[in-house]
Amino acid sequence: MKKFLTALLAAAVVFTSVAPVTARAAFAGYGQDGMVHSDIPYSEMVYKGYDGARIYAIIEDMEAKRGNAANAQAIIDDYEKIVKELDIFSTQSGLNSVRYYTDVTVQEYADIDLEMSALGTELADAALTAVRDALKSPCGEALKAYLNDPELVDDFLEYEEMTERQQELSVLNTELVQKYDVSSGTDYTITVDNEEWDTARAEQAYADGEIDAETYYDLTLMIAEERNSVEAGIYAELVKVLKEQAETRGYSNYAEWAYEELYNRDYTTEDSKRLYAYVKKYFVPMQPALLNCFYALAASCYDTIFSGYEMEDEALVDLVEPYIAKVDPHLSEAYDYLKRNHTYEMDILDTKMGIGYTTTFFEYGSPFIFNSADGSYYDVETLIHEFGHYNNAYHNDRNLLTDTTNMDVAEIHSQGLEVLMLEYADEIYGKEAADAVRLAVMYNLIAAVTEGCLYDEFQNEVFAYEGEITAEECNRIFRRLAEEYGYTYNNDSDEAYDWVKVSHTFQSPLYYVSYATSALAALDIFAMAQEDREQGVLLYMDLTTYGLDTSFCELLEKVGLPDIFEEATIERISNETYEYSMNVYKHSDVYRQSMMVIIVIIAVLVAVVAVVVILIVFFVRRSKKKKALLAEQAAAEQAAADQTVAEQPVEITENNEEKTEENKWES
Ligand SMILES: [Zn+2]
Repeated sequence: MKKFLTALLAAAVVFTSVAPVTARAAFAGYGQDGMVHSDIPYSEMVYKGYDGARIYAIIEDMEAKRGNAANAQAIIDDYEKIVKELDIFSTQSGLNSVRYYTDVTVQEYADIDLEMSALGTELADAALTAVRDALKSPCGEALKAYLNDPELVDDFLEYEEMTERQQELSVLNTELVQKYDVSSGTDYTITVDNEEWDTARAEQAYADGEIDAETYYDLTLMIAEERNSVEAGIYAELVKVLKEQAETRGYSNYAEWAYEELYNRDYTTEDSKRLYAYVKKYFVPMQPALLNCFYALAASCYDTIFSGYEMEDEALVDLVEPYIAKVDPHLSEAYDYLKRNHTYEMDILDTKMGIGYTTTFFEYGSPFIFNSADGSYYDVETLIHEFGHYNNAYHNDRNLLTDTTNMDVAEIHSQGLEVLMLEYADEIYGKEAADAVRLAVMYNLIAAVTEGCLYDEFQNEVFAYEGEITAEECNRIFRRLAEEYGYTYNNDSDEAYDWVKVSHTFQSPLYYVSYATSALAALDIFAMAQEDREQGVLLYMDLTTYGLDTSFCELLEKVGLPDIFEEATIERISNETYEYSMNVYKHSDVYRQSMMVIIVIIAVLVAVVAVVVILIVFFVRRSKKKKALLAEQAAAEQAAADQTVAEQPVEITENNEEKTEENKWES
């Protein structure tokens, strides 16, 4: 099932796409059947607002004509008009979202964002109901033939319009998410001994040596607790709304609804539980060692990787451009379009919401990248990641009405490109920072696996909780699970506070495990490319031709990747990832230099020991020689004495012997 319709109605889904499902032997280019691209620069795409009455007028026309089979062509035309109008609406909504995320302090944009979200749900509901009724009408057969997609027709026919309560819940959901958005952009402050502290102030004081590590830890904990006291409360409210949303659709568990209907997953929450166990067994234990290796490399180029890429977003696009084509020339078409039409907003601005995403302005057939950049290597990495989504969106024929959501597949498009681009890390990031970036990318993917599982396990427990969950209970569940995933806490509390910082938990609940499943597939592609680059790239390119209506496990099977829900697969991927990462570390200049230092230290120690041994041997020998000399001397004296005795006449042999003995003792 494609499950288009529930994805269309879901709030806060930022990236979606759809593509035809066809098995392919080998990648031979994207073909000509993609979406029509307007080639209009982003600067000319201006927000003008949207009047919902335009769609209602078409729906009215449909309702008036569908009763007569002779009007079949008019109904088909109306269907096409609805598709177009929804695309115009979603483009307007998307353009306002970019304005809002670029400057979250402008209340007008925030208000419009809320209005557009509510209007979107209302319009989609009305449109889907109208299409369903048209399919059931005397004009239905003609429309079915025109759509030529039995799965899509089934989805339309099964559609049940939203009840009043469902619409209310949808609005409540959006309001709570917006409340969280505002809070997450707020700097929380605490007062200790009449002094105000926020995170930046504490960091500065610690860096300046004004406060010690323990005080710094206590302050950040108090600030985190302050933030949590607001945001965990919002979450507990949101969980209540989400649970009711699932119940109104006939599901007793929100997680199951989200897995099946919202994210189009062809694996279950039970499969995920197996995955959590394998990840805890194979991925969690290698994390600290790899993090230490990254720190060791990052220490030598700290300023470069964390602030060496401050540039205008145009320059960023130019920096990455040559290497996109090197991965595969077929990627250039979409990149050229992105560059030519400046369909991105990735400048460094304080007013931005701290997110990065790709969306599509359907009206223009134009994908778009947004990122809140900060001058670190991560800006470059994010552009590469988002371009993986952009390229897939560019080559797939899509519109809002038949759009679908499948993050597990979408994130392979992005993470897969990230790992394949590591081949050119020296050129992109500069030789000094390249190895640190390689380890950062590897570590981030490993963290995507472990965090993806942790946050999914957390949310699954929250949604399975009997009765109304409290903010404190959420904190307790997270803390217990986080410790199973290797987190350590230096306080006596049984609660954790920082989990509220992951915005997906609020904006797109149960989304996070998609980062884990897709990262596992991306790491597998990378391992393959290490052995045979051409084959790895080919598999990736093949994979980008599948859209998001292909389910995750189905896709792995189609392109020939093994099942990631098998323990043996997880064990192998973790081993190969660890090996590659340690290899990067051991071939880095930092490692070589540290090995040189160790070799010099060992050489000095060996030299010192050798000198000491030589001296000891020398003195021992000298003392032995001295003893031998003395013994010789004594023997000589004795011999001389014996000579004297022998020359005297012997009277009594016995006494003489005794005397000789005495003489011996004296000498
Ligand atoms: Zn992504």
